[in-house]
Amino acid sequence: MNSIPAAVQIIRQAFPGISQAEANELVAIGEVKPYAPGVILCKENAIEETFFIILEGEVTVTKIINADEKRALKHLGEGDFFGEMGLIHNAPRAATVETISPVRVLEIHKTAFDRLLQKTSSMSLAMVREVSRRLSENDEMAIEDLRLKAGELASAYQRLAQEELARREFLTTIAHELRTPLTTARGFLEMLRFHELDTIQRDEILSTVARNVEQIVTLVNDILFLQEVELLEPEMHPVDVRELIVGAVKSLTSEAQKAETHIQLEAVSGIPQVMGHARSLQRAFLQLLDNAIKYSSAGSEVVISIESRSDTVRVSIADHGVGIPEHIRPYIFDRYFHLEEVGDDLYGGLGLGLAITKQVVEQHNGRIEVESQEGKGSVFTVVLPELRGEPVEF
Ligand code: ADP
Repeated sequence: MNSIPAAVQIIRQAFPGISQAEANELVAIGEVKPYAPGVILCKENAIEETFFIILEGEVTVTKIINADEKRALKHLGEGDFFGEMGLIHNAPRAATVETISPVRVLEIHKTAFDRLLQKTSSMSLAMVREVSRRLSENDEMAIEDLRLKAGELASAYQRLAQEELARREFLTTIAHELRTPLTTARGFLEMLRFHELDTIQRDEILSTVARNVEQIVTLVNDILFLQEVELLEPEMHPVDVRELIVGAVKSLTSEAQKAETHIQLEAVSGIPQVMGHARSLQRAFLQLLDNAIKYSSAGSEVVISIESRSDTVRVSIADHGVGIPEHIRPYIFDRYFHLEEVGDDLYGGLGLGLAITKQVVEQHNGRIEVESQEGKGSVFTVVLPELRGEPVEF
């Protein structure tokens, strides 16, 4: 194909109203150039003075939205033009244009173009008409973009407002949760200081103080743990999940007894290890087990099962307790979400447990699922990718 007549024809289609002679002249002052894919023809924000008409091939137009995001605005092909602002005035490029296939363009430099315009006014008119049509098209795109951005901003604002509300509620709760054991401990310490007490009374008081202090330590640890999980990349090692679960069951046995709940562990042997951070994983399982006991009905059973399926290790903790009402299910993993009252029963807590668990599980490239029936019970399942290699024999 002879490129000059083809270029003339493309220009006449791109700018209806241009005569054959004018199109010829436009081609004559320009230069037809081939480019390979991946070449940047216009660079956003640069002051450049070349106008391009695509004769063959495709380019993509992208714009920087912010430090981390570039948006592809559109693709241009045969007959499309770009860089017109460089001809009209010295505005910096509004976007970046890059070839995405082998491309041939007619390039016209501003000085040559200015000279041509002085000779012929009908061509300027045809070009201005086309350029202004394109500008209004761009305006519509910009308006649509703004509309989208406004929507995104509105929902981001709403999310922030919800987080702020949760944060405030959390501060109120935490103040309360700290004040109660602190005040109790202080009251009892004063009794120790100012009253004559026998050994039995002293022992009782000391264990109450110890219990309250323990409560404060747990609370502070939870908050710090959550902070730490978020900030630090833990060191991962091969971990035996069953061992962690056995440890968690042991440390909650007396709590289970107090709640009259029986814990049953169903685990087959040969469960593969996972790559993980033992302390964090243990914390996550302890939390699920602790919740299962806390929300169980007295006399019921909590069943833990560990199995290996489709390259994953799955740990399920099932209770026969109050269950989770459907309307709160989407929020239970949110930080500070806590349901105080279920039926006639009140449950203490700060709403940090499941947030910690989820964060830990996700840090291990795993996921957590929940199934629940109100009044019947819940099953939380943690799915972790298994460590490839030899399974562990118990
Ligand atoms: P907390 O128990 O301190 O409120 P969590 O983050 O551990 O905080 O749990 C958030 C909420 O999820 C609880 O308030 C409770 O409503 C619900 N929940 C969690 N585990 C269970 C469970 N096993 N049975 C019923 N409800 C549960």
